[in-house]
Amino acid sequence: MQEIKTDLLIIGAGPGGLGAALYASRAGLNFEIVEKYMAGGQIINTEFIENYPGFKDGISGFEIAQNLVEHCRKFRVNINEYFAIDSIKMVEESNSGEKVKTNDPKNSSLDKSRDVKQFKFNCFGDDRVILTKSLIIATGASPGKLEVEGEDKFIGKGISFCATCDGALYRDKIVVVVGGGDTAIEEALFLTKFTRKVYIIHRRDELRAVKILQNRAFENKKVEFLWSSIIEKFIGQDKLEEIVIKNKKNDQKYNLKVDGVFEYVGIKPNSNLVKDLVKLDENNFIITDFRMGTSVEGIFAVGDVRNTPLRQVITAVADGAIAAMSVDKYLNNLP
Ligand code: NAP
Repeated sequence: MQEIKTDLLIIGAGPGGLGAALYASRAGLNFEIVEKYMAGGQIINTEFIENYPGFKDGISGFEIAQNLVEHCRKFRVNINEYFAIDSIKMVEESNSGEKVKTNDPKNSSLDKSRDVKQFKFNCFGDDRVILTKSLIIATGASPGKLEVEGEDKFIGKGISFCATCDGALYRDKIVVVVGGGDTAIEEALFLTKFTRKVYIIHRRDELRAVKILQNRAFENKKVEFLWSSIIEKFIGQDKLEEIVIKNKKNDQKYNLKVDGVFEYVGIKPNSNLVKDLVKLDENNFIITDFRMGTSVEGIFAVGDVRNTPLRQVITAVADGAIAAMSVDKYLNNLP
């Protein structure tokens, strides 16, 4: 097994990881960055970003991701793409020998009374092991599912999580967007460019999305809201043909013929890798302090995977910058 030694390993090359990499590189840190897929993160699937300061005319998600990657490469960051870390073993060095904490809960012994810099992290993946003194977890989040009957059968056959990727397939068709947050409303508006009609199904009678997006959706003639409603079932032969909708206020159920359903019902943190190492909140987001430090010294977390009050590109890259600076201090034993 190939062994790579480094002072810092950044796991994930979305805006959070790339922000950290840029700052780590400029701070002269010895580090590696790995990404399970292609560098860029979730933002690649976002059609248009209007609120990234400095881009007054907006910018596509793909372009912003590409710019971040190129900016990192300009500062000689080598991004190891398609390199998945499968497990992390935390090794504590002490006079009495090595104590090991893995992400296997049956094999754990964490002594909280240790001094800083006593831990090392052995990160396994792709027949390689990266031995590192510190970690920045930038693994982001993945789209949540409705978990209702028929959903799994029709994913990719009428059910999608990415309007940017699949929207054009629904030219002049009827689609449903599920959810009432920023993503649902933004993507529903994007879909009106192609489709004949967009139903937005929301489980309450009030949206969560910011007002500016709400107003745009209310004014758009192609959009119709189905309030206080949920999808109970997906129906079809080879592809999705109709859905069963339940109105939560009067319990009435009815079928609606649709060509596609786009689900935007929130995100799930990709925190599995460290779930037995660091403290998570009740929704499995990693708990961090203002330095992006987790409950374990030497492990930092940034972006959508942490319990932040705001999940945006700007907050993820800012988290990355802070984390890189915190790692620099940690490695140099500075307060
Ligand atoms: P979100 O804000 O958590 O909204 C998820 C929506 O899905 C909510 O309306 C929620 O309903 C609904 N929902 C959750 N579980 C459901 C279920 N099982 N069945 C039916 N509906 C369900 O998620 P998001 O819209 O993906 O946004 C994630 C983060 O990214 C947010 O912080 C958001 O502000 C940010 N974001 C920002 C922008 C931007 O600024 N341009 C764009 C996209 C995303 P309830 O409202 O009833 O809980």
